[in-house]
Amino acid sequence: NLTTKFQKVFRHLKGHGKLTEENIQEALREVRLALLEADVHYKVAKDFVKTIAQRAVGQEVMGSLTPGQQVIKIVNEALTDLMGGTAVPLDLTGPPPQVIVLVGLQGSGKTTTAGKLAFHLSKNKRRPCLVPADVYRPAAIDQLTTLAGQLKMPVYPSSSDQKPEHIVRDAVSFARQHQCDTLIVDTAGRLHIDQELMDELKRIEAVVKPQEMLLVADAMTGQDAVRVASSFHEALHITGVVLTKLDGDARGGAALSIKAVTGCPIKFVGVGEKLDALEVFHPDRMSSRILGMGDVLTIIEKAQDAFDEREAEEMARKFKEDSFTLEDFRDQLRQVKKLGSLESILKMLPGMGIMKELKKMEVDEKALVRTEAIINSMTRQERQNAGIINASRKRRIARGSGTTVQEVNQLLRSYNDARRMMRQMMGGGKATKKGKKKK
Ligand code: GDP
Ligand code: MG
Repeated sequence: NLTTKFQKVFRHLKGHGKLTEENIQEALREVRLALLEADVHYKVAKDFVKTIAQRAVGQEVMGSLTPGQQVIKIVNEALTDLMGGTAVPLDLTGPPPQVIVLVGLQGSGKTTTAGKLAFHLSKNKRRPCLVPADVYRPAAIDQLTTLAGQLKMPVYPSSSDQKPEHIVRDAVSFARQHQCDTLIVDTAGRLHIDQELMDELKRIEAVVKPQEMLLVADAMTGQDAVRVASSFHEALHITGVVLTKLDGDARGGAALSIKAVTGCPIKFVGVGEKLDALEVFHPDRMSSRILGMGDVLTIIEKAQDAFDEREAEEMARKFKEDSFTLEDFRDQLRQVKKLGSLESILKMLPGMGIMKELKKMEVDEKALVRTEAIINSMTRQERQNAGIINASRKRRIARGSGTTVQEVNQLLRSYNDARRMMRQMMGGGKATKKGKKKK
């Protein structure tokens, strides 16, 4: 996959002492191939590589960076820009009720996304109402009605002999009656794009003038998802894309190309079948995720500047052998202070999971002090083997450190996540616990 490809490119670069014209070109050739193999549109790949070249050429090689790190930094920024730079939120301003219409091919995840979006909006203090407008398959109405039941949200009682545009028109007054401020309309899909479907969606668009018309596209279909997005965007006023099924082994291609090819921002990504498996799309996080392990190497390399090389190697070995203890975790957090801005460290960590974990911890100065206090209140045995920390130990640790059991739990969760992610990145997930030896 793309992540492995990038890893190769970066590892390759590590040996070089200086960022020369020659090794930029060499790296860029590989980056372009990696993009093409990840099913990125060839034009996007070409432009991307050109952007990188422009940025790399004439740029001072920063004293503290190796050529590999320098290129990672440039590639990371360029990937982020390619995907739109910053997150684009839903635009639900103006008088209620606001209308969101979900469109897309059959099986892309429209109905599921309608439920997820309703859940997401309800958490943001909105009162959504679900509107089934897929009248061709009675099961589709039932599916959305069931989801609405689970969410305890109003659903417009569509029947399959109504015209979709009439359903949507009537649903607006239904929503008012039920004090709802947002309508989420689920529409019919087809296996392929056809004129009949587009005409139907245009009629819906004309009747309700939706604030948001979101294309739901399946990330697993790669470049097809991009083509689908283009076609829908040409026919309708698509305001954003929801890229679903990113939890599977979807290649990065679709996420990378959609904005560049269609101009439509990705607003959400679907990461599972459950109702809470919807995330706001953040280009920078996706970029970090795509870069994956290349960034772990960067952290380790950057760490070398801050503490000595032997210690860094030790750390890499520990990640690999899974003997990374809470003491190591504490040492790492201490290094954060030396390594510079936390934001820049977070950006380098692989995967979105760990980003979230660390963000949750809010590792500001105060949190660092608390974290250290918690770990200091543990016995040496507990720090070496977090597995033995049971409920009564947690209470003792919380008391001893002047924190709460929740804070102890949160720290342990972050530590476990960091360990798991690092293990996956370093050892392909195979490394097992080879004892708890400490240097
Ligand atoms: P529709 O035909 O566009 O309405 O698609 P559905 O909402 O019925 O979804 C089709 C299938 O894709 C269902 O089995 C969903 O559970 C599944 N699905 C939808 N979104 C996601 C996602 O983000 N991740 C995963 N793994 N499955 C999804
Ligand atoms: Mg459906």
